[in-house]
Amino acid sequence: MQSSSPMDPSTLRIPGNEQADQLAKCGAQEEQPSNSIHYQEKTTFIKTGLKPRQEKDAYHLLDRPGQVALARLPSGHNRLNVHMHRKLKTVPSTTCPCGEEDQTTEHVLQRCNRHEPERIAQWPSATPLHQKLYGGLGDLKSFHIYVCSFIFDTNSC
Ligand SMILES: [Zn+2]
Repeated sequence: MQSSSPMDPSTLRIPGNEQADQLAKCGAQEEQPSNSIHYQEKTTFIKTGLKPRQEKDAYHLLDRPGQVALARLPSGHNRLNVHMHRKLKTVPSTTCPCGEEDQTTEHVLQRCNRHEPERIAQWPSATPLHQKLYGGLGDLKSFHIYVCSFIFDTNSC
């Protein structure tokens, strides 16, 4: 007695199976279309298919809290006084606690004297605002560390 599983397809008598096998054998004996792809091309296709996708941009290389922090600060949906006063009326004025000017993203990232030590720690030389917000991965990581150093939003640090 044959010891094959009752689910083994080779033991099942499926109508048309033998006819399909016969047709496949006939087809295999016919002249085959020429294979015009050279070995080199094949390996290129395979390597391309196996390669990881294009390197992600710096934003997508940040961890999730970094992405959240980076999205909130420039968008204005943050805890800076300009937003908290104008939109939510939860603080008495738009002025930064340093008293120098409105507490905007640019002020905090570029000029606020209250955060100068943290700013110098992340960007020892003058760095344009655009580079801090949209630069390479190093800049974006510095941005996240900087923001978290005085905690705008505990959920993003
Ligand atoms: Zn300030």
